[in-house]
Amino acid sequence: PTLDFEGVLLAGLAQDGGLYVPESWPTLSPDAIRALRGADYAETAFQVTWPFVEGAITAEDYRRILAETYATFEHPATTPLIQLAPDLWALELFHGPTLAFKDVALQLLGRLFDHVLTRRGERICIVGATSGDTGSAAIEACRDRDNISICILHPKGHTSEAQRRQMTTVHAANVMNIAVEGDFDACQDLVKAMFADRAFREDVNLSAVNSINWARVMAQIVYYVYAAVRLGAPDREIAFAVPTGNFGNVFAAYAARQMGLPIRRLVIGSNSNDILTRFFEADDMSMRPVRPTLSPSMDIQVSSNFERLLFDLYDRDGRATATAMRDFRETGTLQVGPNRHGVATGLFHAARFDDAETLAGIKRWRADSGYLLDPHTAVGVLAAEARPEPGAAMVVAATAHPAKFADAIQQATGAAPDMPPRLAAVFEREERYQVSPNDLAAIQAQVKT
Ligand SMILES: *Cc1c(COP(=O)(O)O)cnc(C)c1O
Repeated sequence: PTLDFEGVLLAGLAQDGGLYVPESWPTLSPDAIRALRGADYAETAFQVTWPFVEGAITAEDYRRILAETYATFEHPATTPLIQLAPDLWALELFHGPTLAFKDVALQLLGRLFDHVLTRRGERICIVGATSGDTGSAAIEACRDRDNISICILHPKGHTSEAQRRQMTTVHAANVMNIAVEGDFDACQDLVKAMFADRAFREDVNLSAVNSINWARVMAQIVYYVYAAVRLGAPDREIAFAVPTGNFGNVFAAYAARQMGLPIRRLVIGSNSNDILTRFFEADDMSMRPVRPTLSPSMDIQVSSNFERLLFDLYDRDGRATATAMRDFRETGTLQVGPNRHGVATGLFHAARFDDAETLAGIKRWRADSGYLLDPHTAVGVLAAEARPEPGAAMVVAATAHPAKFADAIQQATGAAPDMPPRLAAVFEREERYQVSPNDLAAIQAQVKT
């Protein structure tokens, strides 16, 4: 069913299990893109996302919320571009409270939720699954907000210590952490099952902030525009390389292109969990068990946001998309056929890198340029280096601060990364979380308390 922005924001997942997409893409004309030169991040965010938000919130309130959101970022440019090589830049998305790119969208989402709920006099319970960075970013975005309680499931033992501590050391009355005895996909399945349970969903007024929430994708469109404008858009085509797991971040780049940003190429970097690379290489989308890697935020079996691209590949036919998704779930494999696959590979290119290649990449970049890549960003940089059109301006989404993955950095370079004060603080505080078996009823009972 069609919903307005506010409805989509609060619902997250659609009642039939599908994902929301805009009915049409608003247009960013070349003149509108040019007019963004010199605009700061919050103003860029306003200009780019206002067509989606208009009607749900006043322009004045929205501007204030955006200013507050991006004031939580420690870098004055919010998401600075760092030049790595003549035609290669890192877009640092990790200057927010939890040092990973998910803050960019979630700091906004928490504030939007609170604003809308206050006006409606409602409360919601946000439930999410995380393989690492989403959970802490969501908790930071929702902590101590009056109208929100938040419960985050993480796969026990499959997040880095820093990632876990960023979640479990938040001592706010509205925050609950559950370590599930299972992998990330098990956590995600539990969240989906909670949404599918209508009585439960209505009872606790369930909502989601994981990357299926359209508003998150929307917020991520902004930095692609912001970076491209700084490098000469609309008068220069830009390529982006994105280390990818759930396909949310790179889908936001795709959305920016649908709106009119001149993007020549989108390069996807995957780790050994390479379902997307297999799809783009050979139209082979088939589920395989998750393998833990040094880039845990990309350790996923199924990229949930891929459904949004599929919708466009199926000419925005919801029924055909739903059928394809159902077949995929039932058989564990999906092929879109040569025509659709050709459309997809005209824009997307994908490459996979295992842990050994990732470590070698971190070591090489540190030695050659002094720049320290976190393992996720390293996968993105390696994918950028392997791009089909070398020489074109290429921006890599730098998705996490290296200090969040100190063990991998130590392994790669022989030295621990410097720890920023924001991160050092979580190693000082006591952890609070519950452990639960991979069991829906048990988790539901905990969420209700
Ligand atoms: C979440 C995450 C990713 C993957 O992003 P998707 O939107 O799931 O593709 C990559 N790197 C880091 C550091 C992340 O936290």
